[in-house]
Amino acid sequence: MKDKLYLMIPGPTPVPPTVMNAMSKPIIGHRSAEFADLIGRVTDKLKKVYQTENEVFVLASSGTGGMEAATANVVNPGDKVLTLNTGKFGERFGEIAAKYGAEVDEVKFQWGYDIDLTVVEEKLKANPDIKAVFATHNETSTGVENDIKGLGELVDQHQAVLIVDAVSSMGGMDVRTDEWKVDIMVSGSQKALMLPPGLAFVSVSPKAWKVIEQNNSPKFYFDLLKAKKSLGKNNTPYTSAVSLYNGLEASLDMILEEGLDNVIKRHKLLAKATRAAVMGLGLELLPAQEYASDTVTAIQCPMAVDVNNLRKTLLEKYNVMVAGGQAELKGKIFRIAHMGYATKTDVLLTIGALEMALNKCGYKADLGAGVREAQLVFLGERD
Ligand code: PMP
Repeated sequence: MKDKLYLMIPGPTPVPPTVMNAMSKPIIGHRSAEFADLIGRVTDKLKKVYQTENEVFVLASSGTGGMEAATANVVNPGDKVLTLNTGKFGERFGEIAAKYGAEVDEVKFQWGYDIDLTVVEEKLKANPDIKAVFATHNETSTGVENDIKGLGELVDQHQAVLIVDAVSSMGGMDVRTDEWKVDIMVSGSQKALMLPPGLAFVSVSPKAWKVIEQNNSPKFYFDLLKAKKSLGKNNTPYTSAVSLYNGLEASLDMILEEGLDNVIKRHKLLAKATRAAVMGLGLELLPAQEYASDTVTAIQCPMAVDVNNLRKTLLEKYNVMVAGGQAELKGKIFRIAHMGYATKTDVLLTIGALEMALNKCGYKADLGAGVREAQLVFLGERD
């Protein structure tokens, strides 16, 4: 049976039936009072998940559009910016900033490791004219969570604004926008927020507004000052993605009903079980456990196994889709996502299928050893 798919990739992720149903509501006018009410409610709920008092904008684009909006509104040609590259998405921020004419100082950390704050501290001290620091909270390409709290404390002592990509953590991990002093926090719909692709979210702090007001980079669709003016009237500058807003309200309601703390705990537990399971099979994680992501686990593929063959076997024989590595990690790692609409059973099923697929691909995995480790985590028998 081909159409039953266990989607365990880091986005797009499975969308709950409640959210799908909400999106099938009749279309309403985007300038109607009813839609303005919806924008008002959604913004309030989004702020709770963002843990912020700042405005949060909903943009009709994928996550990269949110990254571009943040950049286009802050960077003037010739501005000095610091980009922290711990993987493909940190690298992307550098690419976008360069397109907007920034003088980009990129610090590349070895992929699989987290940001070294001492390096950032030195850079900021040596270059007080840095206008913006770009970082990734949860680096999806390597399964690494960066210490944004620590970074926020550092950047806060400087004039620079802190722009963070939380595309693959928002709605699944603890993302404390205000407490961590993040000036612009970007996220996207198709990951832990349990929606189809198509929306990006961007929060903006008072410190960032001061910079945005001085910005003269060419931009039209992603002009955040225009978006701010509209949001003041519970509106958007251009046609809103009406159906996705309905879905967004449903997904935010699900998160808030479960309780943000419980959602965060669930993701921690699923990640812990996944890590225990793969290690129980003798596999190695890419990142160290202390900064491993709670939404996606990156696993080094054993030498004897061809990653593409492993992924193909998982998909074709067991209907489980996992992700491979990107860029320099292509062929070296595979990634199991456990974000959004994900449960303990999803993890058990994926690990069970992985055990069989590994055996079919030339790695003698001890059948049941991974599933057992995950079960022990779920039963509370592993600290
Ligand atoms: N940042 C991170 C951390 C991501 O995981 C992704 C998507 N994989 C993006 C940015 C880009 O988002 P999109 O593909 O929606 O443009």
